[in-house]
Amino acid sequence: MSNATQLIHSIPVDPQTGAISVPIYQTSTFVQDAPGVNKGYDYARSGNPTRATLESLIATLENGQTGLAFASGLAAIDTVIKLLKTGDEIVAVDDIYGGAFRLFNNVYEQFGIKVHYVDTTDIAKVVDAITPKTKLIWLETPTNPTLKISDIAAIAQIAKANACLLCVDNTFASPALQQPLSLGADIVIHSATKYLGGHSDLIAGIVVAKDKLIGDKLKYLQNACGAVLGPFDSWLVIRGIETLHLRIRQHCASALEVAKFLEQHPAVDKVYYPGLTSHPNHDVAKKQAKGFGGIVSFSLKEDTEQAAIDFVTQTQLFKLAESLGGIKSLISHPANMTHKSIPADKRRAAGVSDSLIRLSIGLEETEDLIQDLDQTFQKIISRNHKFSFTLTA
Ligand SMILES: *Cc1c(COP(=O)(O)O)cnc(C)c1O
Repeated sequence: MSNATQLIHSIPVDPQTGAISVPIYQTSTFVQDAPGVNKGYDYARSGNPTRATLESLIATLENGQTGLAFASGLAAIDTVIKLLKTGDEIVAVDDIYGGAFRLFNNVYEQFGIKVHYVDTTDIAKVVDAITPKTKLIWLETPTNPTLKISDIAAIAQIAKANACLLCVDNTFASPALQQPLSLGADIVIHSATKYLGGHSDLIAGIVVAKDKLIGDKLKYLQNACGAVLGPFDSWLVIRGIETLHLRIRQHCASALEVAKFLEQHPAVDKVYYPGLTSHPNHDVAKKQAKGFGGIVSFSLKEDTEQAAIDFVTQTQLFKLAESLGGIKSLISHPANMTHKSIPADKRRAAGVSDSLIRLSIGLEETEDLIQDLDQTFQKIISRNHKFSFTLTA
């Protein structure tokens, strides 16, 4: 049976009523038969049946023992870091999600947890950064917005050899394309706000642990710290996951076509998409994932902020917004949006040039998306003399 079929049928029919859609248990508490004698639930922070359905569904999808649902992706990350204690160290991917960087540096550093950022596409740099205090390796692959790919299986071996945990932020790939736990990672996290939810209508986070022991520790922390996902949002994520495989297939197909269109366009400097053979980590991506995802980034030959701003404000279908992974295509300018707080020289060194533009490819017809980009290039070129000069030069 294929993964998609298995997934759709692993969502249970309600045994009490036969409801084919998972019931939303909008309740804070559960009536007990006698003190401490209950039907599996006592208080909804500790457990809620709608959330529990999502949690077991995502554990199955990620091939882990324990799934946990949180109020946001950052709450999920926060819970994983709480496995550590003062004096412990983390080795993390250098172009990490900005919110994770803020949490690590501005919150956890004051509790004495130190983070070393390295280019995790280079295995030697990961090995070099590990000290006896390293307890956790933190990967994101593909990364945002330059879509760097790290070798999960190779880094899992390094983690094991050094007795530290490997956690992978699998938000950009989704379990439809990549299952880090099957490649040797210990923990997977998601911003379910993105592809798992899939409709840009909620904020949610997921943690999945490969082993029950780590899963139990994380479940304890989930209840102890309390940033759980509510029942209605849990239901929305379940509903999103039901179409995950179908959506991801289309996101990937369109993204590849858009990347190819951009690659041959004379106004484009670089295109970042792991599915292109020109991508430096294309082989690793091919080895560890079933597809290359729905995010495409590119920079302009006219490498100025103004050229990028002109572009991102002229598209019709691509809406200018942060976030990604929804049905509507989005466009963003990292230098002025997600990466604005990073000093310009640092940002450029990380590959986020002034004109870099990130696309989240939605579920519109591929042709319409390409046409929208094409008409935007034409508008920009016709009104910007400097731009057309660059073009013909
Ligand atoms: C959005 C995002 C997060 C944070 O998730 P929230 O749901 O916004 O808290 C973490 N990691 C990645 C890769 C993301 O894109």
